[in-house]
Amino acid sequence: MTRGKREAMIALGLRTHPEHDPPIAGKSACSVRCLESTCNRGFLVLIQRGYKTELRPTVEQANQLARHCGVARFAFNWALGRKIEHYQATGKTLTYKEVDAEFNRRKPEEWPWAYETSKWAHGNAIRDCEKAFDNFFRRLKQGGPPGFPHFRSKHRSTPKYRVAGEAVKVEDDRIRLPVIGWVLLKRCGYLPTSGVKLLSATVSQRAGRWFVSVNVEKTIVAPENQGPAVGLDVGLKSFVVGSDGSRLDPPKFFVRSLKKLRRLSRQHSRKQKGSANRRKSADKLAKLHFRIACQRGDFLHKASHHYASNFGLVCIEDLHIKGMVRNRHLARAISDAGWGTFGVQLAYKCPWYGGKLVEADRWYKSSKTCSVCGEEIGELPLSIREWTCHKCGTHHDRDENASNNLREYGRAAVTARTVVKARKPAENPAGETVTQEAFYGNSKL
Ligand SMILES: [Zn+2]
Repeated sequence: MTRGKREAMIALGLRTHPEHDPPIAGKSACSVRCLESTCNRGFLVLIQRGYKTELRPTVEQANQLARHCGVARFAFNWALGRKIEHYQATGKTLTYKEVDAEFNRRKPEEWPWAYETSKWAHGNAIRDCEKAFDNFFRRLKQGGPPGFPHFRSKHRSTPKYRVAGEAVKVEDDRIRLPVIGWVLLKRCGYLPTSGVKLLSATVSQRAGRWFVSVNVEKTIVAPENQGPAVGLDVGLKSFVVGSDGSRLDPPKFFVRSLKKLRRLSRQHSRKQKGSANRRKSADKLAKLHFRIACQRGDFLHKASHHYASNFGLVCIEDLHIKGMVRNRHLARAISDAGWGTFGVQLAYKCPWYGGKLVEADRWYKSSKTCSVCGEEIGELPLSIREWTCHKCGTHHDRDENASNNLREYGRAAVTARTVVKARKPAENPAGETVTQEAFYGNSKL
């Protein structure tokens, strides 16, 4: 292919598969058909993907990792405090550049210990603080619960810090982190070492174990998926019911471990504060919580992988999860199910396999509409699992009917190319107008 033609293609947003001609990575994810006339394998998709794996640091390295996390937490809290202070004094917001410059100016005098760690630890923490404010202002504008940034706690927050991709190097069984050097990985060959661009690496600690999450950008060939469409109805009785007849039982990991969890919590609360036994029982409790999280993650990944890789079109309901969790009787079961994560995973996995995800409007009546004749019925309490349509006489299973409706909703949304309605912003629970001043005023310094 000539250079001129290639440039013209790129201008049009068209690319070819890596082996035909190396693609130029765009800024955002794109999916285009390969232009090589003999190639009919599918689309090129530029994706970002995270790979998280466990580290095997030496004792000295673990100390260094902890020190990096400590500096990151300190810098984040300092930046947050500084911004609040400045706003209260002048009514103006400090920019990221000003905060970062001030930190670096004061670092040699006031915080010389920060030199023992990589500059990325505090640099990215200050950036995160800025990001937290951006998100806060965005939510304030949209009218949802604003969520003013909060200080990171030494005890409750996850210890973590992030370094840029250019500062790390990955090999099969080890990763090189700035200042610390090569750290061994527990699992060999999981992190991608070639054909990807490293964007960042985040080190975090959970239940006494160290993890690294590497974020990469890479081009994949997504098949031109001609798989069927599927509607997914998520619920409490079954975790998900698919219009293809599939039905996954709710795993209830949390509920299954509840007895053990309660016993450990009870034991923990009886230990004297600050004692070695209290620390030990806290470790035990953290380990169990981590185990439950892993079980849930495993289940959700397998489920979302199944639907994303086998179907060309997946349609799910937009669940008002936050509103539903507020219902005390259902809160635990809903949080345990992990629908939100399931939706997020489907959203990023579907494009990997050339599929599409459609989220039905929250107000779409998937349960109360007859999937055969389209008749709408008035009331359908959650306790009624089966019903008969009074117009066409079809006997419906509640969840199967909903999943059939969702499948048709997805098909219609794609063929008609109608823009699926954007999410309605959640109402402000207090029902008052929220201003940023109110938040700055309330936060403690
Ligand atoms: Zn009917």
